[in-house]
Amino acid sequence: MKKLGLIGGMSWESTVSYYQALNRGVNHALGGLHSAPLLLSSVDFAPIARLQHENNWDTLGNMLAEEAKALERAGADAILICTNTMHNVANAVISATSLPLLHIADATGEALNKDKVHTVGLLGTQFTMAQPFYKDRLKDKFNIEVVVPSAEQQTIVHNIIYEQLCKGVICAESREAYINVINDLAAQGAEGVILGCTEIALLVQQPHTKVRLYDTTAIHAKRAVEFILHGA
Ligand code: GLU
Repeated sequence: MKKLGLIGGMSWESTVSYYQALNRGVNHALGGLHSAPLLLSSVDFAPIARLQHENNWDTLGNMLAEEAKALERAGADAILICTNTMHNVANAVISATSLPLLHIADATGEALNKDKVHTVGLLGTQFTMAQPFYKDRLKDKFNIEVVVPSAEQQTIVHNIIYEQLCKGVICAESREAYINVINDLAAQGAEGVILGCTEIALLVQQPHTKVRLYDTTAIHAKRAVEFILHGA
């Protein structure tokens, strides 16, 4: 099996989901006592979140590049950034090592293409919803139109991520707020909605809505399991 290098801790609440999904995926494929060969570099999220909100993506790129280098030195065969938002600095991570980066938007785009989804809603941090790095990749590489919530709804979605989900706080009122946004995106023509923040599936799961959900944590982890098992 290949060894995967995870850059996690953003937040650690969703890194737990990755750790579980990767181990379960490998065990499901191989059975017995098999589990996933992993290296985890788990960062302190507080300074990262501060730099995000200061729009200091150059420093963030340098920080994740250092994490990737450390994982390469430790023997990783590929890098997985365990957050959607921090793929805003994917290029800095890619240039830092000779390892492949398993990009979360590519895994998501492949899942959407497989389901023949042409127009999709996107929930995530304001950075992911408003900046081009995620939407443009889906459009340019996968020919998928992305619909995002209104500015007011983006603020609600964003604040729930940082003030609750990244702290492990799950509340019914927030779930209802998310479901309303999901329904609005579907009313605007979205055939499905991307849970484009790795903590959202802790709050909203498929049984909560009829709208088809694309949980990026599960999709990304599934893609990573393929790499661990098959090296591609
Ligand atoms: N984990 C979240 C994401 O997937 C948000 C936290 C972060 O900014 O990295 O975007």
